[in-house]
Amino acid sequence: MVMVWSERSAIPGSLGQSSKNQVGIDVKRILLVEDDPMIGRSLTRALHEQGTLVDWALDAREAIEAWRTQRHEVVLLDLGLPDLSGVEVLRNAREENMGTPVVVITARADVESRVAILDLGADDYIVKPFELRELFARVRAVLRRHQTASRSTVETGEIRIDLAMHTVSYRGKTLRLPTREFALLHVLVREVGKIVSREVIEKEIYLSPDEIGSNAVDVLIHNLRRKFDKDIIRNVRGAGWLIMRDPR
Ligand code: CA
Repeated sequence: MVMVWSERSAIPGSLGQSSKNQVGIDVKRILLVEDDPMIGRSLTRALHEQGTLVDWALDAREAIEAWRTQRHEVVLLDLGLPDLSGVEVLRNAREENMGTPVVVITARADVESRVAILDLGADDYIVKPFELRELFARVRAVLRRHQTASRSTVETGEIRIDLAMHTVSYRGKTLRLPTREFALLHVLVREVGKIVSREVIEKEIYLSPDEIGSNAVDVLIHNLRRKFDKDIIRNVRGAGWLIMRDPR
């Protein structure tokens, strides 16, 4: 396979023939952070040919800006950038809770660098020189892992629910909740932006009508507000409760 920065890869079409089905990645939009024009152009072309939209940032400042303003399915991040290191870009992103999967492109092959990259929150790395098909295979693997992980969590705005662990995070606080409080919050998050009536909540979180006390739902809501914050759940008088959609 063609190495992405080789002269051969700059020949139009040389990457495209095999990129479609065998070695492609199913990604709509990608952030590519790479200051080397040859590698950047080759990767951009290969990605365009398979229908992926590429935001190509040439330095750390551009990368951070693009990362903040666009939704990407994956970030390809070169570490050696002209202004800041790619490490700083990654640290900044993770500090701002931008969890986009990241595959680091690095010239450093030593174990310490690789461990540091992964510890910082990269999902994988590839060492230069690499072949395009290996990069794509790594991206595919990272996306598969990410999809599996995201299926077990539900998120809206500031609320994050981990279905496997029965924990809820809200404004920096993570708590493991009793079954019914957890189930109630899960219903409201699933129906985010909609008012959910007492009747619907009761049907969802109780096995039989005998279990339901007269103010059971109110008690659960009260507990959730006390544990997190009053505004985690809105009350719509006479109609039910809701969680507001993320305003962003
Ligand atoms: Ca570089």
